[in-house]
Amino acid sequence: MGKPIFQPLPDKPDHPRLEEEVLARWNAEGTFAKLREQNAGGPTFSFFDGPVTANKPLGIHTTWGRTLKDVFQRYKALRGFDQRYQNGFDCQGLWIEVGVERELGLNSKHEIEEYGLERFAAKCREAVVKYSEQLWEGSKRLGQWMDWGRDYFTFSDVNIEYVWRMLKTVHDRDWLYLGHRSTEWCPRCGTSISQHELIGSYVDRADPSLFVRFPLLERPGEFLVIWTTTPWTLPANVAAAVNPDAEYGRRANGEWVAAARYPDEKLADTRKGSELVGWTYRGPFDDLAPAAGVEHRVIPWDEVSMDEGTGVVHIAPGCGGEDFELAGVNGLPVIQPVDESGRFYDSFGWLHGMSTTEAAEQIIGNLEEKGVLVEAGLHEHRYPECWRCHTPLIFRIADDWFISVRDLRQQMLDANATVEWTPAYMGKRMDDWLNNMGDWNISRRRYYGLPLPFYPCACGHLNVIGSRAELEERAVSGLEQLEELRRPWIDRVPVRCAECGEPVERVKEVGDVWLDAGIVPFSTLGWQNETAVPGGYGSGAAKGLTTADLPDHAYWEKWFPADWVSEMREQIRLWFYSQLFMSVVLTGKAPFRRVLGYEKMLDETGREMHGSWGNTIEANDAFNRMGADVMRWQFAGQAPDRDLLFGFGPAEEVKRKLLTFWNSVKFFVDYANIAGFEPKWAELEPDATEPLDRWLVERTHAFVADATAGYERWLAADVVRDFEAYLDDLSNWYIRRSRRRFWDEDAAALHTLWYALVQTLRVLAPILPFITDELWRTLVLDGPESVHLAGWPEVGEPDRALLDEIAEVRRVVELGRQARSASGIKLRQPLRRLVVEGARVDGHREEIADELRVKEIELGAVEAVELHVKPHLPALGPKLGKELGAVRAALAAGEFEELEGGRFRVLGHELEPDEVLVERGGKEGWAVASGDGVTVALDLALDDALLLEGEAYDLIHRVNTLRKEQGFEISDRIVLTVPPEMSALVDAHGEWIADDVLATEIRVGAELAAEKS
Ligand SMILES: [Zn+2]
Ligand SMILES: [Zn+2]
Repeated sequence: MGKPIFQPLPDKPDHPRLEEEVLARWNAEGTFAKLREQNAGGPTFSFFDGPVTANKPLGIHTTWGRTLKDVFQRYKALRGFDQRYQNGFDCQGLWIEVGVERELGLNSKHEIEEYGLERFAAKCREAVVKYSEQLWEGSKRLGQWMDWGRDYFTFSDVNIEYVWRMLKTVHDRDWLYLGHRSTEWCPRCGTSISQHELIGSYVDRADPSLFVRFPLLERPGEFLVIWTTTPWTLPANVAAAVNPDAEYGRRANGEWVAAARYPDEKLADTRKGSELVGWTYRGPFDDLAPAAGVEHRVIPWDEVSMDEGTGVVHIAPGCGGEDFELAGVNGLPVIQPVDESGRFYDSFGWLHGMSTTEAAEQIIGNLEEKGVLVEAGLHEHRYPECWRCHTPLIFRIADDWFISVRDLRQQMLDANATVEWTPAYMGKRMDDWLNNMGDWNISRRRYYGLPLPFYPCACGHLNVIGSRAELEERAVSGLEQLEELRRPWIDRVPVRCAECGEPVERVKEVGDVWLDAGIVPFSTLGWQNETAVPGGYGSGAAKGLTTADLPDHAYWEKWFPADWVSEMREQIRLWFYSQLFMSVVLTGKAPFRRVLGYEKMLDETGREMHGSWGNTIEANDAFNRMGADVMRWQFAGQAPDRDLLFGFGPAEEVKRKLLTFWNSVKFFVDYANIAGFEPKWAELEPDATEPLDRWLVERTHAFVADATAGYERWLAADVVRDFEAYLDDLSNWYIRRSRRRFWDEDAAALHTLWYALVQTLRVLAPILPFITDELWRTLVLDGPESVHLAGWPEVGEPDRALLDEIAEVRRVVELGRQARSASGIKLRQPLRRLVVEGARVDGHREEIADELRVKEIELGAVEAVELHVKPHLPALGPKLGKELGAVRAALAAGEFEELEGGRFRVLGHELEPDEVLVERGGKEGWAVASGDGVTVALDLALDDALLLEGEAYDLIHRVNTLRKEQGFEISDRIVLTVPPEMSALVDAHGEWIADDVLATEIRVGAELAAEKS
């Protein structure tokens, strides 16, 4: 035998090894560069990549999103779209800082400042460099095609300048303000946290639960009783709130509480809450300086809950959002007990320096000593923690910079209405968020972040700098040392006040990290930039990390807005929101036309993945143990509106399906090599004349059309589902039904199968880029060198009528198999007759007979059905009472009449469908199956001739197994020896048997044996 036409395939694919080889080939041949060249100048498809934070190696969750991005970019590339492939990294902000702090063993802001901001900045950049390289490696291994090396890094000076410009615009429109308010605060990070950063950060916690007496000054021996879960806030108490409309009363021990909270107690002196307003009490910590001079009094508040506590609420305006607002309304003093790191100020005496948790125990002990503690226990509740460092949040009063959303809210809602969201409910979530969002708190008291360009002057003027050029123009000094637009260097550049001319210093705050990410549609595309600067994006900290250009405005016009973006659901309030926000500020429009969101990734049993639970999967482990294609199948196959259960178990399932496909290709390769079949790319589609070939061509057209529609809906899961159905038709119908033609080296069958396989590879290439390219290079001898360069298959309108017809045939066969398996008679045993009712399969009797190994197909009413009706006791028992027994016996004896609509008449009663249990089974000697309006009945009677044929099939099966065991090639001819007891069988069916097992001769000998002839 000469060199085979097609490279023979191994029995099964070794995914990880195959993928490494394909990656090496893409590299060597420059496949991606060729693809981009091929599409250059074509219609554009604009995609923006949401930045991944460069603070850890590629996480398994990230591979899901990256796969979806890659799938649709590859699909659009196959359709000829010119695209940008810019990957992005988030490079500054708390996440980076917290990682570096851990690495350096720093535990507070104080320690960072001691370490030195220059050194700290250098360490942060080092971390970004290290992790961006790891993220590149992981993403390439996943098969993602991006313009690696021309990425955007949000810490570049260009990016910072664009945010400055947006902030200046915001200031010009009078939306920027310094707020003095109570805010969620992370004591470890020493900064406030923005509302949109709180999503998903609530955890179950057990906190102290205290009931405390506040002695009333005008009513000796009487007290207010309050309930709190935050003992550390008690030293900041200034008031107690009651619901003015609720009823309050005095318990026997002198404690005043709400009547609704103590329904079983008899309360004395009951009166409305409004009558308690103005009473004064001795505060719990009047012995400490800050509260000593405060007049503590009862105030009215409509929001006082009657669901928990005592109906009297302790108010500490320095420690809570609502409390702070009440202080404004009621003219209460504000006591702030803890500093930025959450520790008590020195003025709090014996509490000074303690954290809020350390203080709790001391406070409880102190209250007990004073005799005002009623009860102390534990309370389980949901409580927010810092999403970066998991420290429980507290409330502090802070001066933070805000952007007002008053004028923007409606504009953002209007912009969102132009966006097409998949799944649609995520667009509604965005609307909900926009309707409820508060002003955007953009300032963080940190170090390695976007420096807010705010220079408030003592004269009252707020100077906001909008660009580096403006900074340089107005700088008083310090420009010579300005390495990057970043702390500490920028803090040494005061500017001249535009109003009074005095030098002004920058505020110390840096910006919310979502400003960095939200500006990307402008900073990376050169919005309002006059002249393009090659390599110009790589400025500041990004210098040397990227060769990305700073394009000009015409480029922005070409690529903005994005045709499509995709991120996980939580990005609705994060990246999608910040982009929308900034885009509406700058252009009044949405920055994207379509969004694909997706839900959460869980482990394969449906639990959250946690490092500490040992159920996380490392991306590298997944690459090495399942392979990227298998991962990508799981990601692409997941409906985006449901959580993905990811793991090695589901991976085995995927591998099995991929093996079925692999086997189909291998089947083709093996027989095509025997037949010397050599297809031409120029004659891709066969001119099919055989009905089965014609069907497969149409079936392939339908698969291409359906999968295309799936991709166009941004639902890769639909493509995967269509493929699974198609694969079943291909392998379990076409190939099975055509085996003999392949043995006979039938060129039409080979061409048809080749066409189907080649088109399938093109459709699957975006989802499974490795295995499809490997098989492409096996199957396509003179066409495009890679499936990724082959373009999208163009096919005719499928003949749906023909497809429906065969689908019906397959349904009948499937029911026939069910009936056979229920009968217990093995599939190899031929049977006499099958009756089919309810399916139009007249032209396909032969195929059905062959598939089910029956001699004759009869179309018509199935009379072999026996109807078994039993009473449904819960329904019928009450209705029939004592007569139930008689009815049951009559039903069992078959003494009933079947009526219209599934009703039955028995012993004069009419029974409704929900009053009976109906079973249709085969009569003695028949096996029946039905579904979707089709019923089949299999005649189970056997005679000697049928039994002998069954033996022949058994023998063929045994010999074929033997051939495989002995390692014969599929084309090897053999001499078959059978034992003497089979001579009658050979006399009757010898020719057929010989034909099926490729025997040139059948001899009778001692035992069954096969040898090459
Ligand atoms: Zn924190
Ligand atoms: Zn001034």
